[in-house]
Amino acid sequence: MNDPIDLNEFHWLLAIVQSIDVGVVVLDRDYCVQVWNTFMENRSGVQPKDAHNQNIFSLFPEIDRQWFSRKVESVATLGTPAFTVWEQRPYLMRFKNYQPITGQEEFMYQNTTLLPLRSTDSKINHICLVIYDVTDVATNRHQLQAANAQLQQLSSTDRLTGLYNRGHWEESLKVAYARHQRYGNATSLVMFDIDHFKRVNDTYGHQAGDKVIEQVAGLVREHVRDTDLAGRYGGEEFGVVLSDTDKTSAVFFAERLRKAVERLEVLHNGQSIRFTISLGVADLSQLSINHTDLIAWADQALYASKKAGRNRVTVYE
Ligand code: GH3
Ligand code: MG
Ligand code: MG
Repeated sequence: MNDPIDLNEFHWLLAIVQSIDVGVVVLDRDYCVQVWNTFMENRSGVQPKDAHNQNIFSLFPEIDRQWFSRKVESVATLGTPAFTVWEQRPYLMRFKNYQPITGQEEFMYQNTTLLPLRSTDSKINHICLVIYDVTDVATNRHQLQAANAQLQQLSSTDRLTGLYNRGHWEESLKVAYARHQRYGNATSLVMFDIDHFKRVNDTYGHQAGDKVIEQVAGLVREHVRDTDLAGRYGGEEFGVVLSDTDKTSAVFFAERLRKAVERLEVLHNGQSIRFTISLGVADLSQLSINHTDLIAWADQALYASKKAGRNRVTVYE
């Protein structure tokens, strides 16, 4: 065990530790630095001569003292290695991230291995820290997460209006329905359709029609609460699920929206386009089998609004 190391070998080992692309630090039991390799020097900007014999906590006040010393003590007493991973703690010491490609991250993400070092008397008087730069891994993970979130967002919203698309809206209605079944909270649905929309397309063109749909969606967004679910049900048909809202309040909402659309003026190529909407309101105060009942009821009420002359709100009774 106490084989004397060949002096050549010792120099080689030292050269390897210096040039290796991971941080190598040796601490004594008072947390004072004994070894500080080139990686540590370059990334921290602290020279070996300034690090030597200095307490690691005074060199790097950002290290969580309680957590880190508990780790080190367990390595020293048990004589087994320990690890820290970036998912739990992004870094041990805060180093600037200098990687040109992964420049999005402000600091270097680190994994750390803590190794017990036995002296010749077989006591553990030193701990070796091996610090890995895992910024690439963290960056990739973050980019993937952002892309996934965006994908999810894209697949749940309608491109033209930014409202929920039909599929996602109906799924959300199902959830609201289940919540009502369980907790009995009032739940209403307002469906509406733009009146004589074919005329808008025929008179002003399809692009003007798109603009009309977009601006109606904008009005809907202005009128709903955060907890309401607004979706584009079809071409120029929309549905708004109002949670914790009874029929009376839903009618109030529908009337406000109807009036706002009536006042709206969409400008297209210097022309002013005015139009109205017809609405249908239903709620879950009567017995229902599933969420499609609510859609059917609101749709029937909407149809009644059309028949009665458009630009009005009808409640399903
Ligand atoms: P009503 O008052 O009875 O609703 O009459 P309407 O002309 O609005 O009739 P309907 O609701 O059946 O017409 C829908 C029209 O909307 C048919 C379709 O060409 C047009 N449309 C559907 N989606 C879009 C779209 O995304 N953009 C444009 N510009 N038009 C659309
Ligand atoms: Mg229409
Ligand atoms: Mg329609």
